[in-house]
Amino acid sequence: MSISKVYSKIRPQPDKVSWKRLVCNNQASPKSIFITWMALKNRMVTKDRLIQWHINCDPLCFFCQNCVESVAHLFFSCSYSREIWQKILDLLKIQKTVQCFELEQQRAARLYRKANRKCRLYLMFFAEIVHSIWLLRNSLLFNGSCQPADLVFREIVYRVAVRCSEFDRKFLYF
Ligand SMILES: [Zn+2]
Repeated sequence: MSISKVYSKIRPQPDKVSWKRLVCNNQASPKSIFITWMALKNRMVTKDRLIQWHINCDPLCFFCQNCVESVAHLFFSCSYSREIWQKILDLLKIQKTVQCFELEQQRAARLYRKANRKCRLYLMFFAEIVHSIWLLRNSLLFNGSCQPADLVFREIVYRVAVRCSEFDRKFLYF
């Protein structure tokens, strides 16, 4: 066995399964899970990627017009998505502030191991907010229209409530 193969076996491996934890056994809608998978694999056609491909475009985020649009910015560095995700964390009684996309994935992976009601709902909300933000971003791109953060939050709660179990739904009354 070569030295490089030995080294690759003993060095710490990145958590390759974290995205699987977020999309497998998730009761969110199939479309939301697919869009979340795209985000986790960084396959979304965001403006930072267009610029990397030398396509000339305005690089700024459609929501805040303040930073370059990227997956990391959309989820959840952007003030718009951060406000919605914070409302969801508060609803789930997760007493933490919103973190960057990578740290939120790690939080999801940790919660996944617990396999309790809060975790199931967190995974659903995660997929539903990623889907919603992406749809709203496209709506701004093609129609120039968006919705207030509070309305988006309530729509996401509704979508999770109709798909989750009766037992889990009781946690969402507020
Ligand atoms: Zn933004």
